[in-house]
Parts: sequence; C-alpha cells; structure tokens
Amino acid sequence: MGLLIKNGLLYTGSGFIKRDLLCRDSLIAEIGEDISGEGYGEYIDAENLVVSPGFVDLHTHLREPGASYKETISTGTAAAVAGGFTTVCAMPNLNPVPDSAENLVVQQEIIARDARCQVLPFMSITLRRMGVHVTSPVAGCVGISDDGSGVQSEEVMAEAMNQAARRDILISAHCEDENLVSEGGCVHDGVLAKNGLAGISSESEYLQLQRDLRLVEKYRCRYHVCHVSTKESIGMVRKAKSDGLPVSCEVTPHHALLCEDDVVCDDGRFKMAPPLRSSQDRSALVGALLDGTVDAIATDHAPHAAFEKNRGLKDSAMGVVGLECAFAALYTDLVKTAVMPFERLLFLLTFGPSNVIKLPCGLEIGNKANITLIDPNATWVIDSREFFSKGRSTPFDGKKVAGKVVSTIFEGKKVYQL
Ligand SMILES: [Zn+2]
Repeated sequence: MGLLIKNGLLYTGSGFIKRDLLCRDSLIAEIGEDISGEGYGEYIDAENLVVSPGFVDLHTHLREPGASYKETISTGTAAAVAGGFTTVCAMPNLNPVPDSAENLVVQQEIIARDARCQVLPFMSITLRRMGVHVTSPVAGCVGISDDGSGVQSEEVMAEAMNQAARRDILISAHCEDENLVSEGGCVHDGVLAKNGLAGISSESEYLQLQRDLRLVEKYRCRYHVCHVSTKESIGMVRKAKSDGLPVSCEVTPHHALLCEDDVVCDDGRFKMAPPLRSSQDRSALVGALLDGTVDAIATDHAPHAAFEKNRGLKDSAMGVVGLECAFAALYTDLVKTAVMPFERLLFLLTFGPSNVIKLPCGLEIGNKANITLIDPNATWVIDSREFFSKGRSTPFDGKKVAGKVVSTIFEGKKVYQL
C-alpha cells in the first residue's frame, strides 16, 4: 500500500519542479514525471498545489505533562499538522521538568501514545529550570533549553556550554537578563511603556546574548538563539556567524510581521516574551530572514486558557499560539507582498530548522514521507475558534490571509486533510 501525489509542484530546496511522488511504508519511494499503474492505495490530485517537505518547528510549547488544561500533546500536535508541521520541538517548561532520564520518560510515553507527528523534546539546561545546577542530558532529547527564562548566572551557562561542547549537544537559549526587565514588564520599553505600562528593554535580550556569544567563543558549543526580537541581537548573530562560531537563530512569525505600533488595544493576544518591538527592530528581523542571518522561523506556540489571556496587557499570561496560522500569515505579508521569495519562506520552515537540529530533510527517495501540501491560491480568514489547539490567543485572529495548508502527510500517512 502506498500514497501517490500526482501533478504537484515539488519544492526542492532551491526551486520548484513538477513531479509525481509516491510514498510507501513511511518513506518516499519514487519521484517521477509520470508515475502510474498499480502499487499505491491512495491518490491525491495535487494539480495547482505546492508539495513541500513537512514543516519543522524548533519552538513549541505542548504543555503536557503539567498543564493539560492549556494544551496536550494530542491537541498540540493536531494543531501542528493542521498548520503543516510534521516535526515540533517541545519546550521543557513542564511538570515534571524533563531534567533527568526519569522525568523525560514521563513525557516520551505520552508522545508515543498521543502525538500525531514527530515530537522532539528539549531537556532543561538546569535542574527544574531553576538556573542553579546543570543537568546531565540523555539520548533522546533534541537539545537543552531553559526556555521561559534566561540562565541568569554566567558561571552556570559556562558549565552548561562546556558540557554541551564535549557531548555535541545543542543549547537553545532564551536570552533575558531579569535585572533589565521592569517589575511587571509586559510590553516593549518603547511608546507603549511611555503610556504607563511596564517595559521590557531590548538590552534585557541582547546583553545576555552578548554574554553567551563570549562564552561560545571559548567553548565552541552549538548555540541557538530563541525568538530573536531586537536589531542589536541580529547584529551580534551576524557578526558571530561571520567569525565562524557555531551559532544559529530563529525568529517568530509575530516578531517578523508585527511591531509595537500594531498593539491597537489592551488585549492579551499582543502579550508575549519577548514583546513586539519597534518597527526598526521588525525591519532588521525581516532583513535577516532574507540574508541568511536567521536560520529558521519558529512559532513559539505558547497556548494558555482563555481566563489567563483575557486580562489585558498588564495581567494576561505571556505567550500566543502560532502553529495553525504561521504559514498563511507569513505567506500573505511577506510572499504576496514580494518582500520574500516563496522558496525562501519554505526554506525557513523546512531545511533551515532541520539543519539546526541535524534532521534529514527534503523530497528525496529514501527520506521519511513527511510532506505538506499547500494551496497558494486559497484565501481565508484566521478564526481562532476553529483551531485544534486549546489556545486561542493570537494577534492574527480575524486576519484575511492567502495560502492554505490543505493536507499533511506524516511517515506516509495522511494525518490532516482540510
Ligand atoms: Zn522563550
């Protein structure tokens, strides 16, 4: 039995080519100009559709174990495949925190039972994410991260990097110096902060990044920067890369498409860490997505319950959902406006993130049949009430968009169909 995708426009990593593609036994079995005859069970007419490797998200909060009322591995991965993602990296701000082999197994058992796509868990950098004692990561984690907070102690980060370098472990860093965030900080320390809301300064991100890059120079571990939001951080990553350091970084759809000027009402759907920054910061992020300074787009999908998000900017929880609207929002505002070539957007959702975590990628015979089918001509309105995710808070709610994921195939099986 297999699955034949007929007449699609295949994204190759550099361009598009019209081909048929046959999946069999979880793998891509054949690619050709005209595959026909017996040997397949299911058939998809992909005329006018783009066929891409499945999207990869380096930064997803699935909330389970520990906060299943916000999201579960089942609902989060249902949202992932509806958004075209076939691999998501799960962040470790969970309960129990995956900071030991024992605690990681708790999460892995739920993944094995409930996940609808590949879930690669991050372990924490420090025990219980408390920033004090460095963990000893085990096989089965994609890397280590204390996401949600920065590692405040330079000494602790140095020890983590030293170990990561020796064992070739990826560190994914949420850079935030807590001393440089105002008490109750909820927006960028810019125009909104001048209107009486507590600010989160750009320095709180880039000064900790600067410290980390100094340490990377010494220890040479693989170092990835989460949700880069400031122009200064972009400058530092660009310099580090040109110096040959093993550094990569990600940008979220909301930071790439929105800035503080878009915060039009006192609504929790505009509250996340780091916050939406200035229009100059946003421009720098887009430039860096185009020139290769940024390796990947990552959603930072961070679901919360409605009662945690309907308390305005000051009192709502930090974080917005992203899996189900990332592609269309980016395609509409960057590709349809001719800011970014379509190939580049697809690269940032597929090969780019895969390279960071050394995951094989591409529509090639023998690779896993993880495939996303896109209708670039579809138009629709983002409506969070229709999400598979339990989280409904997104700044893109109500946005008119173009481009729709119509089908997602994971290991040769259709796991989502519009
Ligand atoms: Zn974070």
